[in-house]
Amino acid sequence: MISIAVEQPLSLVIRQDQQIEPGPAEVMVRVKRAGICGSDVHILEGSNPFARYPRIIGHEMAGVVEAVGPGVETVRLGDSVVIDPVISCGTCHACRTGRSNVCAQLEVLGVHQDGGFRSFVTVPAANAIRVSPDLPIGVAALAEPFSIAANVLNLTGCDAADSVLIYGAGPIGLTVLQVAKLKGARCIVADLDAARLETAKAFGADEVVLSKSSAVSSAVAGETEGLGPTVVIDAAGVPSLLAEALKLISPAGRIGLLGFSTHPVEVIQKDIVSKEVAIYGSRLSRKLLPQVVDWLESGILRPEAMIRHTFAAQDVEAAFALIRSDPSATIKVQLEF
Ligand code: MN
Repeated sequence: MISIAVEQPLSLVIRQDQQIEPGPAEVMVRVKRAGICGSDVHILEGSNPFARYPRIIGHEMAGVVEAVGPGVETVRLGDSVVIDPVISCGTCHACRTGRSNVCAQLEVLGVHQDGGFRSFVTVPAANAIRVSPDLPIGVAALAEPFSIAANVLNLTGCDAADSVLIYGAGPIGLTVLQVAKLKGARCIVADLDAARLETAKAFGADEVVLSKSSAVSSAVAGETEGLGPTVVIDAAGVPSLLAEALKLISPAGRIGLLGFSTHPVEVIQKDIVSKEVAIYGSRLSRKLLPQVVDWLESGILRPEAMIRHTFAAQDVEAAFALIRSDPSATIKVQLEF
């Protein structure tokens, strides 16, 4: 039994770990697969503003229920499950209005609390979402990154009438692309990396554009008959893109932001008001994993192609080294426990 922890920034350690018997309304899950997220890399690098150390990282984990505590009725021993890493109080304003993902007491597994890069993880039963035993466990472990896309596209009300401009063809940009296509929207993807854009094409992008050639506005105009995209999603986390998005977007457009930059950015109020543009910050997901699991089980997404690299958990150093040295070669790197 092992766990993978960041003791302090830049110090990744594999430790011996113990099982924690589940208390009332808790379950213990034997982790089989866990994805590495950009935010795990940021915790390792010391650039995640929410992280506390030392921390067992990982929040994209799936496995099998190994023990259930008293009063648990939603899952049973031996069930395959994926874990929703969002823990909320249930009583604050945000929780009472259905927005538990921005709970005033928000605790995210792998960030505020110890997470899922460990052989066994004990979590509230409500956070263990059942998946079909036929669903490959690596695909189940993609439910959390897909829930990020589901949340931002719900907030922005994306549907088949929309033309969506997605900034960033990294792992999150690709989940946004797939969910937007599932909703029937037309999608244009912009990135600085030509290889990533090829990947976006393979995942169904209607148009791709290399951002650095400053061709985004002409590509977008061409794709939307000059009207501009009706939805813009920043999956690149670059603050200056907000000002660009406000220029490009169509009247009555919606912008979804996913990054956590702390750099100020100048925007022009007239650009927002004259077109009645709505700007949404989107964090984690509002209990959307069950919805995503339905999509994954129905086969309407292409999750397998997201998993390009799998490492044994013991080789976690090599997995992080690959992500940091060659980010455009990887989409989702997963650890096998
Ligand atoms: Mn993630």
